[in-house]
Amino acid sequence: MITGSHALAVFLASLAISLCTFGEVAAANRGTKTQAAKHRTVREVYRTGVNHPRRYFAETARDRSGRPTIIYYRRYSTAPGYFKTFIRTHERCHLSGHRNEIAANCCALERMRLSKRGLAAIRHYIVSRDVNSETAVDYKGQGRLFWRKIESRCPPASGRKLR
Ligand SMILES: [Zn+2]
Repeated sequence: MITGSHALAVFLASLAISLCTFGEVAAANRGTKTQAAKHRTVREVYRTGVNHPRRYFAETARDRSGRPTIIYYRRYSTAPGYFKTFIRTHERCHLSGHRNEIAANCCALERMRLSKRGLAAIRHYIVSRDVNSETAVDYKGQGRLFWRKIESRCPPASGRKLR
């Protein structure tokens, strides 16, 4: 979380324009090996031996060829499996054009189609570990504040669209 620098926002703005249509992604997922689809496959890089200076679990970038990339840092490796899935989905949501942190969380929760228990686990992790990707400044209670924003702005977090 995961992201948030101004430079990244600029990058994401350009990425949103150059990113493929969903049709092309679907074609890539079906195994259609067009050059365009191959180029747009998300690359994942594990820098889990390194702490991100702003405590991010992961962030998005582009590799030298311009391919969308997710880079994972040490904090990611300390998270339980269900939260790793949430982080990965959150970053993929950024790559799909959700630039804002809350919007990326809403997108991730929507895509994960969590059970009530699954949602409660994500909530508990965010609150108890003080996860807040909107700020680089550490303070107690930021996880709770972050969750409140998520809950008030995205239907899946409030349980309205749960299975
Ligand atoms: Zn983010």
